Amino acid sequence: MKRFLHLVIFLIVVLPLCAIPVYGDVKPGTDVKSMKELINLAKDLSCEQVLISGDNNVAALVDVNSLAHLSWKKNKGKVDFTSKVLPAVCSIKGIAFFALNCQTSDYALSVMNGVYQEDYIKPFDFIIAQSELLGVQEKNGFYADKYQIAASWNMEHIQDTEKEQLYISKAGAERILDKALEFKMTHFQSGEDVVLAVWSDYPEIGLKDIYHKTLDSLKNDRTMAIFIDGLGWHLLENYCAVNNLDLAEMKYLPTRSVYPSKTKYAYYTLGTGEYLPEDSPGQIYPDKAFLNGVIIEEEKCYYTSPTAVLLNVDENDNGTIDDEIFDSAMKYIQDEKKLFILVHFHSVDDMNHEYGPYSQESMNQLKVIFDYTQKLIDTFVGRVIIFSDHGAHSYLNQGGTHGSVKAEDIVGVVKYVEKD
Ligand SMILES: [Zn+2]
Ligand SMILES: [Zn+2]
Repeated sequence: MKRFLHLVIFLIVVLPLCAIPVYGDVKPGTDVKSMKELINLAKDLSCEQVLISGDNNVAALVDVNSLAHLSWKKNKGKVDFTSKVLPAVCSIKGIAFFALNCQTSDYALSVMNGVYQEDYIKPFDFIIAQSELLGVQEKNGFYADKYQIAASWNMEHIQDTEKEQLYISKAGAERILDKALEFKMTHFQSGEDVVLAVWSDYPEIGLKDIYHKTLDSLKNDRTMAIFIDGLGWHLLENYCAVNNLDLAEMKYLPTRSVYPSKTKYAYYTLGTGEYLPEDSPGQIYPDKAFLNGVIIEEEKCYYTSPTAVLLNVDENDNGTIDDEIFDSAMKYIQDEKKLFILVHFHSVDDMNHEYGPYSQESMNQLKVIFDYTQKLIDTFVGRVIIFSDHGAHSYLNQGGTHGSVKAEDIVGVVKYVEKD
């Protein structure tokens, strides 16, 4: 019994002390209990460097491959590192934490000003940028940078107390940044919220506003909504640049998409004025004002609606459904009984994914969609609102992707077409 009690006490007291927290580009709350766990974690997250800090805040920054030459020794509830191979700075008594430098972090902070990306800060990079490099050591061909870890974190270049800034939380909420922004070693935080983006001079129009604008418009007149999937502000800027067009003359305004900047989330907000709930989402375009209308979609639609949803297939097998969607829309807009028409074009987003958002393919496809849009506007009698759900960014030269809080993903477009 006594031995059992000792074992329990050992498990409760000693083992947790030997778990070392891991900071930097990892999930908050990560820790490791052995060298093997640390090496596997670094491998799983594609991390190249590890910062090893002692409890005196002096740290060694080494290549992840160097870890194999270090031995992990438990000593009175603490962990010491020793190595005969690596530079002396790597032999550290009383390890306080590790910080991993990985290719990406789900908790990086996007700092935006207007439609532009000012900074995109991975937690690891933030630690290094604010700590002091004391020197570089070399032994047996291995290098180690010696650092003095910062005693406190300076947020002045991110949080501007003079200006109203918006932040986007990990849960997708948008709030005014009125509490101090704090750095928590793996993420940034304000109050209880994990913060992913800080936005100065943010676009006035959000996707919720587009829903309300559509509803208001419909209460006054027949309304056609043209939804161009994946048309980010930056894509439109690029389109204007390559085609010698004046962006201002295009009369588009930037919008704040939602986080995650994906169709599923954005479409829900565009179609309800609400953020997608975790439990059972409702229907899109639920207001009875939309009832006498039609939503013209591809083969499937993310959501159901009390309004008719017309699905289309690639009848002519040319690799896109947008030509069929355009034909359907042309038919419906001539039916004057339909008060609301939503036309959802997908091909620009498809090209963004396949070839990258600034590729010739995306630009050509956007031209096709703008031509369709112009024909629809010319034929339609009523008000027209054009909008996108999100943008896209290039991904490792393998096409593009979206979903992040980067400006390229999260700044969309809207245009209210005034017809004479
Ligand atoms: Zn989309
Ligand atoms: Zn997409």
